[in-house]
Amino acid sequence: MKCPLCHNPFTSIVSTYKELSIDGSYIYGDIQVYRCHNCHHVFNYITKSDIAGLKKYYKEEYSSQKFNPTPIKNDYFNFNTTKKQIMVVNQNKINNFVDKLFFLNEKNNCNTKYNFIALDHTIEHCWNLDSVMQNLKTMIYPDGRVYVSVPDYEEYMYRYNPYLMLIKEHLHHFTGATIQYLFGWNGFRLLRHRKYNLSILNGKEMIPSIEFIFECSDIRINISPSKYESVYLYGAGREAMHYLANNYHVITGLIDDTPGKIDRTISTIPIYSSRVIPKLNSNSLIIVSSLYHQAEIFENIKKLKFKGDVKCM
Ligand SMILES: [Zn+2]
Repeated sequence: MKCPLCHNPFTSIVSTYKELSIDGSYIYGDIQVYRCHNCHHVFNYITKSDIAGLKKYYKEEYSSQKFNPTPIKNDYFNFNTTKKQIMVVNQNKINNFVDKLFFLNEKNNCNTKYNFIALDHTIEHCWNLDSVMQNLKTMIYPDGRVYVSVPDYEEYMYRYNPYLMLIKEHLHHFTGATIQYLFGWNGFRLLRHRKYNLSILNGKEMIPSIEFIFECSDIRINISPSKYESVYLYGAGREAMHYLANNYHVITGLIDDTPGKIDRTISTIPIYSSRVIPKLNSNSLIIVSSLYHQAEIFENIKKLKFKGDVKCM
């Protein structure tokens, strides 16, 4: 089972929840939860026929009447922009929600551009994260913002009743880290995030949740490392070691200016100083493999006039 977030093939099953469904249901009964070895994303096993059945599932078996949408704060809209094109996806009206869900998951060439898109408890329902992210990138203005809220896996898995939160149409179990990974990987910059409780069933139950505001940045999206002549990891620390151990595409070299690391190797892959950067051609990719020094690394790459593409880990 490939990771739906980072496409890594190394994933393992974490647990199976024995469940039943309505007889003749359009989607799976037992919930099989997987975790990716690379990005640690947690997700349900879902087949093509489950995906094909989702529309009918939402129409005939789904109930969300007791769900109150997250009140999205006014100040989220008040950023520096002249036009205000806003799209809000929430479960206020279920038919509307399902239409927008399918719109986001199918590749579309949407001509309308938005300054603000809110995905309120939506992205955990998505079965094609690649299409969703690609659509978001084409639908949002360059300085636009995306609001995202999701149930908080780290909280709901350890509550007294996790099975109540393992809702079959929640295909992903996001944490703060995996949402940041998904959006960061696709060229969005995190502005802020916070944990909150979403009240459901008229206050009888709370869904522990997290919300985020991202700003669209100019980083290129959907860069597949296999398309490049050479791929470098910038940062030869723990992140790179983890990346190398859990990814399968070829890495040409590592870049790190720590004197003790230059000219050494990790798994036979050579470590170069950043002086190698001006020599790299436009068909090279640098993956920034440092969580804590991203800003300095980006600055250095720019300063050294790198001609290729850059992406974050
Ligand atoms: Zn992954």
